[in-house]
Amino acid sequence: MLLKLSGRGLRALGEVSSRPFIGRISTDVAQRGPNEIWLARGGAGVPDGFRAYLLAGPRPVMPPRDSYALGPEFSYLSDGDVIRIEPDRGAVHAIYRRNSRTNSLLVTERCNNYCVMCSQPPKDRDDSWIIDDLLQAIPLMSPDTGEIGITGGEPSLLGPRLIELVRCLGQCLPATAVHILSNGRGFATGDLAKALAQLHHPDLMLGIPLYADVPEHHDYVVQARGAFDETIRGILNLKRHGVRVELRFVMHAETYEGLPAFARFVARNLLFVDHVALMGLELMGFARTNLDALWIDPLDYQRELREAVETLHRARLRVSIYNTPLCVLTPDLHPFARASISDWKNAYMDECDGCALRTQCGGFFASSTLRRSRGIARVRLG
Ligand code: SF4
Repeated sequence: MLLKLSGRGLRALGEVSSRPFIGRISTDVAQRGPNEIWLARGGAGVPDGFRAYLLAGPRPVMPPRDSYALGPEFSYLSDGDVIRIEPDRGAVHAIYRRNSRTNSLLVTERCNNYCVMCSQPPKDRDDSWIIDDLLQAIPLMSPDTGEIGITGGEPSLLGPRLIELVRCLGQCLPATAVHILSNGRGFATGDLAKALAQLHHPDLMLGIPLYADVPEHHDYVVQARGAFDETIRGILNLKRHGVRVELRFVMHAETYEGLPAFARFVARNLLFVDHVALMGLELMGFARTNLDALWIDPLDYQRELREAVETLHRARLRVSIYNTPLCVLTPDLHPFARASISDWKNAYMDECDGCALRTQCGGFFASSTLRRSRGIARVRLG
């Protein structure tokens, strides 16, 4: 089931702030402070000294300022989570979940591509406030966090503000890996790549989509003329400055035939990239709008997928298959499959109950019910 990370879920219980604010969930009285938000379940008391109060149980007689009844759809919130509260809308946004291994920070909704299968269609409006919020939120996150993703929109459109954000991550969470999803075009001129490299972040990776070995086809998929050239120049600049790069190829009806040629192109020309991810389609956003044109059963591109994996693997590139359940892959491809779907949108189907591969299998996007592969079947061993 899809976890609700954002939306209306608060009911004010008295006087509230006039502006949105950010804080960290706590159930420990000793944690009280100006950035801490007390979470009370059941009949727990309401201590003073917190920024706000989320009450999942009975309402106190005299609730302190910024007390809210918390809706059941946000009952997953727990200690250490960082949230944004919008008092006027009664809305809450879970920016960071302490117990999740897949925290992603959306840094802008603007983008200079317009990909035919974009799961997060871009919006052209000033959303620079998002970075201000994140710069407040990051110091509240646990230094034990394994990885933080940065997504958009296109993060490189933020220019120096992206550098500011990555610097903040490196300073506040020095042991946390940072993975930035970018179309790479913003690094084509070299200045931004150099500034990113000069941060000397200890564990930074750029995930950059490349959808073909020829410019026309890539530019068609991302709906932007000249994008292929800029993306390739961006990749070269990042690697020149020592920033790690992962290539991402989303497999659908418009791309799968070019998969073997793409793999040969990478093996010949981009052998220095650090990882290649071949990814199943997420049926969200424009992928839903263009569903009839984009959908292909993964069973029907197994030959192209195997050829691409063999080419990349033979070239000693690290290659992974993302977003694809094991039962639709031939067994020789299983070692390359990764459980890659974020926990808040990960789902399994009835067939998965009792399946021998369930613990290794990454399952489905919750959105996958729109179309399903004819290869989905419980696997029994022996
Ligand atoms: S039946 Fe479910 S758990 Fe088993 S391989 Fe298929 S998707 Fe994975």
